[in-house]
Amino acid sequence: MSTNEGIPQFPKPYWRDLDLPSFDKLDNDLSVDVAIVGAGITGITAAYLLTKEGVKTALIEAGSVLNGTTGHTTAKLTAQHDIIYDELIGHFGEEKAKLYYESHMEAVSFVEAAALEHQIDCDFSKQDAYVYATTEQTLGSLQTELDAYQRLGISGELTDAIPFDIPVKGALVMHEQAQYHPLKFLRALLEEAVKTGCSVYENTTAADIEDDESNPKIITKSGHKITCQHVIMASHWPFYDKPGLFFARMYADRSYAIGITTGKDYPGGMYISADSPSRSIRSTPINGKNLLIIGGEGHKTGQGIDTMKHFEALEKFAEEVFGIKEYLYRWSAQDLVTLDRVPYIGPLTKERKNILVATGFKKWGMTTGILAGHLLRDYVAGKDNRYMELYSPSRFQMDPDVWSAITTNLDVAKHLINGKLEFVPREPEELLAGEGSAVMFNGKRAGGYRDENGKLYVVDTTCTHLGCECEWNHGEKTWDCPCHGSRYDINGEVIEGPAVKPLTLLKEE
Ligand SMILES: Cc1cc2nc3c(=O)[nH]c(=O)nc-3n(C[C@H](O)[C@H](O)[C@H](O)COP(=O)(O)OP(=O)(O)OC[C@H]3O[C@@H](n4cnc5c(N)ncnc54)[C@H](O)[C@@H]3O)c2cc1C
Repeated sequence: MSTNEGIPQFPKPYWRDLDLPSFDKLDNDLSVDVAIVGAGITGITAAYLLTKEGVKTALIEAGSVLNGTTGHTTAKLTAQHDIIYDELIGHFGEEKAKLYYESHMEAVSFVEAAALEHQIDCDFSKQDAYVYATTEQTLGSLQTELDAYQRLGISGELTDAIPFDIPVKGALVMHEQAQYHPLKFLRALLEEAVKTGCSVYENTTAADIEDDESNPKIITKSGHKITCQHVIMASHWPFYDKPGLFFARMYADRSYAIGITTGKDYPGGMYISADSPSRSIRSTPINGKNLLIIGGEGHKTGQGIDTMKHFEALEKFAEEVFGIKEYLYRWSAQDLVTLDRVPYIGPLTKERKNILVATGFKKWGMTTGILAGHLLRDYVAGKDNRYMELYSPSRFQMDPDVWSAITTNLDVAKHLINGKLEFVPREPEELLAGEGSAVMFNGKRAGGYRDENGKLYVVDTTCTHLGCECEWNHGEKTWDCPCHGSRYDINGEVIEGPAVKPLTLLKEE
């Protein structure tokens, strides 16, 4: 098939093509032991594990369960997080780098064991994971990484080819990794949690926390209070940010994925490129056939090219390497990256012991979300967990944080200033059907979008989080903030935090 034929008109991830349970909105005050905010992989795993221990737990979700990043992943379950082990040894030492590997391998084993225990048909299969190099320079990095594997006792080796028509210089394989259908798995964990007493509420947004030392209270957008002993912020970006200053310690990075059939057998394995532009390859069974999931084209949120171009680049790659028979799905999402590339899991700060957070999974949350659920359960129960220190949000390592922190925040400052000054002024009336753009409205920068029926929406594009200017995302038809990744729909309603307040809708006609 030729490029652009049959492109799915609306983004939809393959994973969400299944029945999911629905839950009422919270319409009263509550008192529980643990209140979890966010029903993605982190929140659901924590809810499942805590209720299993007899802890009275409530799980609230701003939208629908499993419709955040977890519903838009590519779901490789692996401890091979691009090239990272040599860097971890350099930054944290060999012992902690090994703990990092072991913590993620335990997460893979948990999924396998839980699927067996609860008879969950979630397409789990063991696969080797490959990171491949297409340049000599990156091959050198793979060799260094192999050395790190050997020092840490990780099972793997360098190969000189992968089974596709991609001109690689070499590939580093990590054995005994896995893949699955995350929503089939997590739907079952959620059902188990509900059976054992967890109360779940959808369309319930946590807006703030009353920070009482022993009994913090979540205040929802509609004004209800949830009093508890521990709050778990599994909201991807921590919605209560002030004490942790996460906005200065993380950035959001977006990626794209397409789901295609090719008419050819798939040789097995999960692949990711080490060079730019990033490419990720895996397959999953679909109605007796193979759906090939091709991902990549990562960039900082709000800083990409016209987002449809990223889908087109993946489609072109898929056509050249595999040949596309049917183009069935396309989706995109973002994940958060910390300054030292290790997630933040644990108490928000040394002083805020009852407000817990799990964030910064750098596109490897399929194991990290599971690991976070375990760490947070143990923290709440006062049990030791040998991984706690490594992931502590209060850790401070001088190297390489400082430089990253400076460059990340310079980037934010640049967008704060440039977003307001640098744009070619257009009038909202100039917008064609289906077009969105920064426009001049009442003498100020605003954002206009004209839908397919000709209706015009104009919003104030000043992000309600910290005041950067949002950019138009053509692929998803959203306003995305280039600083911390908040996203809004065409009416200005929040789709994704850290923002909790909508953009002002200036005009709708
Ligand atoms: C394109 C892409 C591909 C990826 N592929 C892989 C992969 O192959 N392997 C891998 O390991 N990882 C992968 N990841 C990463 C992984 O998908 C994520 O790290 C993980 O899903 C994050 O889970 P989460 O539970 O933290 O967040 P989410 O799934 O986003 O859940 C957070 C939930 O909190 C809710 N929420 C937010 N704010 C509030 C509030 N104030 N009140 C109430 N609810 C709120 C949101 O609506 C959301 O449902 C990928 C990520 C991307 C973007």
